[in-house]
Amino acid sequence: MKSDFFKPRFKTRQINVGGVKIGGDAPISVQSMLFTKTQDIKGCLEQLIELKLAGADIVRVACLDIKDARALAELKKQSPLPLIVDIHFNHKLALYCAEFIDGIRINPGNIGGKENIREVVNACKQRNIPIRIGVNHGSIEKQFEEKYGRSVKALLESAVYNIKLLEDFDFRDIKISIKTSDAQSTIESYTRLRELCDYPFHLGVTEAGTKFHSTIKSSIAIGQLLLNGIGDTIRVSMTGELSEEIRVARAILQDSGIQKSGINIISCPTCGRIQSDLLSAIKIVEEKTKHIKAPLNISVMGCVVNALGEAKGADVAIAFGKNEGLVIRHGEVVAKCKYDTLVDRFLDEVLDEAKLHEN
Ligand code: SF4
Repeated sequence: MKSDFFKPRFKTRQINVGGVKIGGDAPISVQSMLFTKTQDIKGCLEQLIELKLAGADIVRVACLDIKDARALAELKKQSPLPLIVDIHFNHKLALYCAEFIDGIRINPGNIGGKENIREVVNACKQRNIPIRIGVNHGSIEKQFEEKYGRSVKALLESAVYNIKLLEDFDFRDIKISIKTSDAQSTIESYTRLRELCDYPFHLGVTEAGTKFHSTIKSSIAIGQLLLNGIGDTIRVSMTGELSEEIRVARAILQDSGIQKSGINIISCPTCGRIQSDLLSAIKIVEEKTKHIKAPLNISVMGCVVNALGEAKGADVAIAFGKNEGLVIRHGEVVAKCKYDTLVDRFLDEVLDEAKLHEN
């Protein structure tokens, strides 16, 4: 159903990360971060390819020392995705990586003073690459933590302080994250910071946990912010998962109605009325439609109680009955089939509908 209840997207400045635009009217991009050691170039490439296939737009890579930085230079030559280097404390690594990387995540407040900031800013200006300020509740600067404790106020002060350090050198090619590990303070931090600047925001819940917990926390926090018009690029952070991060991030964009692409499956939970094997059918449908990029709503329902109503809003629908079922396209019944051919017939209609959208 259509809704005009929610706020339009906040108009931010636009930056460019290796050809992927972030902010302004650019589509909301999806990011992740490698968890292989950076010097393991083969392992990194495998993860980059996995992320590319899953639908990632940008990837961040840790850089702890000069050996990592050299490995990153090699990795960048072969990477199928734009790379952001993640650096803490060491501005010399930032200067080295600025020669070839697509963006730098560094907090100017912790790289050793104004002269170091000036050097990093000049290197980024020369190559037109952005800096991401990553404010995180696990690493708030001492002066703000002492004054405000580990609070949203401290995070906001830290963000404003780090932004100003770059603006003092007339650098505005910036995006910002202001993350905590719970949904409420993440929402509050981004919402309050939105009132203070127009830089694009990288949304995420930090250290969000395992697949189950991260999916819930990220959906609440990122989903609510996006629905309030806040956010330009997102990362779902998950322990030990890569492609699943991207899958969940894409689902948040789709299910919040922010971006329409790919298959949206509407299926019932089943109940005692069911007279079919809906669970097997839905697994087949999910597997055989996951490659589709066209923004299709498909409905797979266990019986006619709600199936015909759902079918009215779906591009293609199945209504299971006893021993047979209906295939419905845009509200019109196009086939009545026995079970053994029903799912195949449904999938034919879905693929045909996808082709129409893609042409
Ligand atoms: S559609 Fe039918 S089978 Fe599915 S939950 Fe509703 S009543 Fe039960």
